[in-house]
Amino acid sequence: MEISFPPRLSLAQTPTPLIAIDRISEVVGGPRIWVKRDDMTGSAVSGNKIRKLEFSLAKALDEGCDTIITCGGVQSNHCRTTAVLCAQLGLKCHLILRGPEDSEIEGNLLLDRLVGAEISFYTNREYQQKSDEIIQHWMQHYHEQGSKVFSIPVGASDGIGLWGYIAACEELKDDFSQLNIQPGHIISATGSGGTQGGLTVGSELFQLGAKVWGMAVCDDANYFINKVKQDIAQWRQWYSPLISPSFDCDSLCVNVIDDYIGPGYAQATPDIFATISMAARLEGLILDPVYTGKGFHGMLDQIRQGRFDDTNDIVFVHTGGIFGLFPQRDQLGLS
Ligand SMILES: *Cc1c(COP(=O)(O)O)cnc(C)c1O
Repeated sequence: MEISFPPRLSLAQTPTPLIAIDRISEVVGGPRIWVKRDDMTGSAVSGNKIRKLEFSLAKALDEGCDTIITCGGVQSNHCRTTAVLCAQLGLKCHLILRGPEDSEIEGNLLLDRLVGAEISFYTNREYQQKSDEIIQHWMQHYHEQGSKVFSIPVGASDGIGLWGYIAACEELKDDFSQLNIQPGHIISATGSGGTQGGLTVGSELFQLGAKVWGMAVCDDANYFINKVKQDIAQWRQWYSPLISPSFDCDSLCVNVIDDYIGPGYAQATPDIFATISMAARLEGLILDPVYTGKGFHGMLDQIRQGRFDDTNDIVFVHTGGIFGLFPQRDQLGLS
C-alpha cells in the first residue's frame, strides 16, 4: 500500500539497527529476540519521542509557532527530547513538570536545564487536578507576550504523534525483509500510548504480520486500550485525506499486558533492577527502571510462560530512557 505522510522534519538518526540478542534468547528459551535500537535515534535526543516529534514539530513550524509547551514527569524523556530539539531548531521551550521543585538537577532534568528550557513545577496533585488549566494559563501567557505557542501533549501521544511509529513500521518492514525474518510479535513499553498506537496502526498498514503488545508501566490495560483507541480515532479524523477509506481502524486489536507495573510509575521492584543488570552484562544493552526495564522484564517473563511460542522471532522496541537510570543509581546495588 502506498502511504502518504504529513510534513515531517528529519531529526532522528534512522533507520536504527535491528539486532539479535542471542545470549539472552538462549538463557530464556523460546523465540529469537531482536531489539529495534531506538535508543540510538540520537545522543541527547535518544529514544522513541523524537520519532513522534518529527511530525509534531513539523506542524508547529508550519503554523509559524516560536514557542513549544509540553509536560511530563520530572525525569520525562519526552520533555528532555523536546527541550533539546527546541534548542536545535531555535524555538523557545516551556516544560510543565510534575514533581517536587527541589528535584535534584540530574538525568533528564539536567539536560532540560542545560539547553535553557523554561520550567514550571507542579505537585502530582495540582497536575492531576488541573493540568488542562495549567497549560491554558501558560498558553495565554505567551499569547499575551505576542508569541505563537504550540502545545504538545504528554509523550507527544496524539493523532499527530502516532505518525512516528507508523513510519517506524515502514522501517521495520525493510529490516525484516533484509534479515529475512517474519517476527510474530512486536513488544514495547507503553506509557502514554503513542508508540503502541503507532505500531498497532503501522503494523497493519505495512502488513508486517506481527501482533503488537504494550507492556504497561503505569496505568492498567483498560486505560491503555481506551487511550490507544482514542489516539487512533483522532489520527483517522485529522488525516482522513491521507488514509485509505478502506483502512478499518475499528478492527485493530490493542494488546496490553499490565502485570509488570510494580508499585507505580517510575518505581521498580528489585527483579526489574536484576533484569537491567543482566541485560547490561550479557548484551551491553542499557535499559532503564521507568520504561524499558519493565517492558523487557515483562517480555522475558511472558516468553518463559510460553506466550510467544507461536513464532521463531520476536521484536522488542528499545524506546531509550538511559538518562532515567542515573537518578536511580542507588538501586543498582553497585556501591
Ligand atoms: C515515553 C517512553 C516510553 C513509552 O512510550 P509512549 O509512547 O509514551 O507509550 C517507553 N520508553 C521510554 C524510554 C520512554 O521515554
